[in-house]
Amino acid sequence: MPPIWLYKCSKCGFHISIGWGGTMYVEDDNGNRIECMHPGEMSTVVKVLGKNLSMELIRKRTGFNSDCICLDCLNFFKADFGDEIANPWRFYYGATNKKDKRECPGCKSQNVKTVFEMIGQICPKCKDGVIKIFETGLIT
Ligand SMILES: [Zn+2]
Ligand SMILES: [Zn+2]
Repeated sequence: MPPIWLYKCSKCGFHISIGWGGTMYVEDDNGNRIECMHPGEMSTVVKVLGKNLSMELIRKRTGFNSDCICLDCLNFFKADFGDEIANPWRFYYGATNKKDKRECPGCKSQNVKTVFEMIGQICPKCKDGVIKIFETGLIT
């Protein structure tokens, strides 16, 4: 069971995300992304895709929505870039598709990062502190 992490600025306390940095999802027939909460991700996948699942269908229709932040407007959103640097949960779920482009849905800036990519970076809010990862001590 993975620990819950908190990502925040060492100086101003600006929180980026609490948790794993993202959520597995499955696409329904209309392309809507339905989040698969942990534990029991696969039961959600079966509910959406039906019981006759092939590995190929699972690969095609599931993915990993990372928690992302726009460094220009500080908008939070979820996206499946597929090329982010270090979200180990993506690989845990076998989600390797690249589905979304790197773009803020709010201001269209391409200056966006996943929370994992923010670790060790300058805080986008106070532009002074550094984003660090803290263990909350909670385990899911
Ligand atoms: Zn800060
Ligand atoms: Zn933005």
